[in-house]
Amino acid sequence: MSVGTVAAEPLEEIVARFVQDEVAPQADAHDRSATLNRALLARAGALGLLGITLPVADGGRGGDMLDAATAHRRLAWADPGFAIAFLAQTILFTHNFAALADEGQRRRVLPRVLAAEWIGGMAMTEPSGGTDVLAMRSRAERVPGGYVVQGAKTLITNAPDAQCFLVYAKLDGDVTSFLVERDRAGVSVGPPIDKMGMRAAPMAELVLDACFVPRQNLLGRERAGIVQMMRNLEIERVCLAAMAVGVAERCVHEMIDDASSLDAAGRPRAEDGHVQRHLAEGHAHTAAARSLLDDVAGRRNPALASRVGADSVKLFAARTAKDVADRAVQVRGMAGVCRERGLERLLRDAKLLEIGGGTLEAHQRNVALDLVRAARIAAHRSGGRDAGER
Ligand SMILES: Cc1cc2nc3c(=O)[nH]c(=O)nc-3n(C[C@H](O)[C@H](O)[C@H](O)COP(=O)(O)OP(=O)(O)OC[C@H]3O[C@@H](n4cnc5c(N)ncnc54)[C@H](O)[C@@H]3O)c2cc1C
Repeated sequence: MSVGTVAAEPLEEIVARFVQDEVAPQADAHDRSATLNRALLARAGALGLLGITLPVADGGRGGDMLDAATAHRRLAWADPGFAIAFLAQTILFTHNFAALADEGQRRRVLPRVLAAEWIGGMAMTEPSGGTDVLAMRSRAERVPGGYVVQGAKTLITNAPDAQCFLVYAKLDGDVTSFLVERDRAGVSVGPPIDKMGMRAAPMAELVLDACFVPRQNLLGRERAGIVQMMRNLEIERVCLAAMAVGVAERCVHEMIDDASSLDAAGRPRAEDGHVQRHLAEGHAHTAAARSLLDDVAGRRNPALASRVGADSVKLFAARTAKDVADRAVQVRGMAGVCRERGLERLLRDAKLLEIGGGTLEAHQRNVALDLVRAARIAAHRSGGRDAGER
């Protein structure tokens, strides 16, 4: 390093300090009020965290999937609600938008979302169900100068606060991506949807009623939205898995704290069999989830590339988070279910990780089908030579 240059601070250190000093202290209040902490999102923007995966030329950090996973894991340690609002801004909207947008669209939108001056949302799920995304009913029709979009989306994280949405609708039967600003005629956002967990990330329904979207708001090519939608689901699932690992790591930390105290008779709680069981099992599962996450996010294992890896790690980590949060509550007893001790919030938040970004059942289906497909392709390539070995 030459004299006068300062090494860029590692991302993990920036996030760790942000979490300790600014995220953790507000978590309980925003869970209670069920409101997005917009000022905190703007702080994340000022720290350069809202464009983790964006190229430096676009104002981002030029990071990869492992960097994105690290940030989400750290944030969820203190506040999974804020972490998912952050995910909706950085990954669901910004990362996805930047992958599709042309130069003019980038210049118009990115500086605003990177500073959280505009809040963004991604609108895929519809009231008829989110698992079968290809059955979406929202439609776009070509009209002079652009398109008219008609449809309803629901469970859209950040929608109550958002100024812009990435909306998927079918054009001639194929998924197409559009940028839709909130102030367009025909756009309406429903009231916040009250939910059991991740309450600091309000969500709402988004309705587009004969909404005119100009041609310059088409993202990418017409009828080519499906590929980007699937790619975006992959990074979303890895970041959600990272959040799950963050929740589990926090709960193990809380159990260690409890195990380090004395029981009513003055004996170390770590000698209690039930504390040992929950702590040891919780730790082992959390460590396994963390290893799988690092493998998938760091792309260390070719067998876990693409959807198999993303779905596998989310499937395992989401269940682990809920299980370990439940164990931590159990170890703490009644104090574990009291709001002011924070643990019950993590258990409530963890449940949503089994649904958002794909349910456990969707991951099971994807992993099973992809494994069988890969085996069939491998057998075909080897001319059936390996088939008898299976
Ligand atoms: C915290 C959170 C944040 C979210 N944020 C967003 C967002 O920003 N944008 C957005 O577009 N969406 C968002 N969602 C919606 C999310 O993507 C959907 O909840 C998810 O895709 C599941 O859809 P669903 O809830 O409509 O369940 P459904 O699809 O109605 O499924 C209901 C149940 O049936 C099961 N099921 C359905 N089909 C099958 C099948 N073929 N085989 C086996 N079982 C099946 C499901 O697994 C589930 O148990 C969010 C959800 C959560 C929880």
